[in-house]
Amino acid sequence: MDFDLREDHRLLRHSVREFARAEIAPHAQRWDKEERFPDELVPKLAKMGLLGIRIPEEYGGSGMDMQAYAICVEEVARADGSTALTVASHNGLGTGHLLTFGSEEQKRKYLPKAASGQWLAAWALTEPGSGSDAAALRTTARRDGDGWILDGTKTFITQGSVGGFCVLLARTGRAESKQQGITAFVVDRGTAGFTASKHLLKLGCRSSDTAEISFENVRVPDSARVGAEGHGFVDTMQILDRGRISIAAMAIGLGYGALDRAVEYAKQRTAFGKAISEFQAIQWMLADAKAELDAAALLTHRAAWLADRGEPFTREAAMAKLFASEAATRACNGSVQIHGGYGYVREFDVERYLRDAKLCEIGEGTSEVQRMVIAKHLLSH
Ligand SMILES: Cc1cc2nc3c(=O)[nH]c(=O)nc-3n(C[C@H](O)[C@H](O)[C@H](O)COP(=O)(O)OP(=O)(O)OC[C@H]3O[C@@H](n4cnc5c(N)ncnc54)[C@H](O)[C@@H]3O)c2cc1C
Repeated sequence: MDFDLREDHRLLRHSVREFARAEIAPHAQRWDKEERFPDELVPKLAKMGLLGIRIPEEYGGSGMDMQAYAICVEEVARADGSTALTVASHNGLGTGHLLTFGSEEQKRKYLPKAASGQWLAAWALTEPGSGSDAAALRTTARRDGDGWILDGTKTFITQGSVGGFCVLLARTGRAESKQQGITAFVVDRGTAGFTASKHLLKLGCRSSDTAEISFENVRVPDSARVGAEGHGFVDTMQILDRGRISIAAMAIGLGYGALDRAVEYAKQRTAFGKAISEFQAIQWMLADAKAELDAAALLTHRAAWLADRGEPFTREAAMAKLFASEAATRACNGSVQIHGGYGYVREFDVERYLRDAKLCEIGEGTSEVQRMVIAKHLLSH
């Protein structure tokens, strides 16, 4: 939604939209069909500043705020959900964790390479046996002299195969201590025992890299610990708050992308002697999608604005993600419906938008988890 109040945000939206139209949109359908991560796009994303959105300039990044981050992800998603997921997860999760909680040494080592696209970031919380109940994770880190030994398996990890480094959450305390016993570590690709064990094939976001990764007897120095020992879970909740704003933005971009196509198609497709856009049934689908997506955009920018002001935004980020992801799925589904049979085949992009949008209801906390977060805040006051 073009309601940006600040001139720099307006200019940013315009330039990212143009970039995505020229460099991403023409290839998105092919990348999806090939189910291949587009390595060739990475230097272009970096040049555009999209791999170091929040990274301060002193570490080679663009040093932008959360509202700018949401604008970037939304505009990339208008063209392609997979690339938006890459941009959102790289900036918000792996890189975001180091930026927020990493040591100066870690920032100097990883952030310039992340911003330049030399190293993409992965971030590994989810395990085969624990997703929503993240504190039940079983990957372990045990002390070994002056370092640590990591063991365990993580799944659904974005950039799991193509990432240059991975920030992971592991149990350092006893299982009963649940949240208090979790610590974050950063591991470089190529470290002995750290492997991408399975490439996962998906419903949507097919050209985003998703993998199962394993840590077998992986030895890291204590300098690989990110943040304080036992503080990993609390820190992770903060990372997810920001990440949810970016997934909401991704949903909005996909919704608007599908709506733009529906409007265009409805005006040129005829039935019963007139354009289908003249039927009220079609108009209402378009109107509902526009109203819901604009509402989602306002919720998302409110959450980002609060984050930029340093005010609490956990509940607002959860509301934005919940509403935006469900609104986007409805908008994309409506767009497929308006395209009729052409919406169901690959010739038009809208079936891809619908498949990609569904991820936004699941990743970085399902809709049910967002409702839990919102209700917890409501009931605790
Ligand atoms: C494409 C993709 C990319 C991803 N990228 C990453 C990544 O980079 N890093 C990472 O760590 N993870 C990643 N994930 C994992 C994602 O965050 C999890 O899939 C998600 O949090 C849900 O966990 P789960 O799959 O284990 O589902 P579960 O937690 O097993 O949930 C199954 C169902 O039960 C519901 N449920 C669970 N608990 C409750 C409850 N208390 N009340 C009501 N309903 C409940 C859920 O909402 C869901 O509907 C990714 C996932 C996908 C699909």
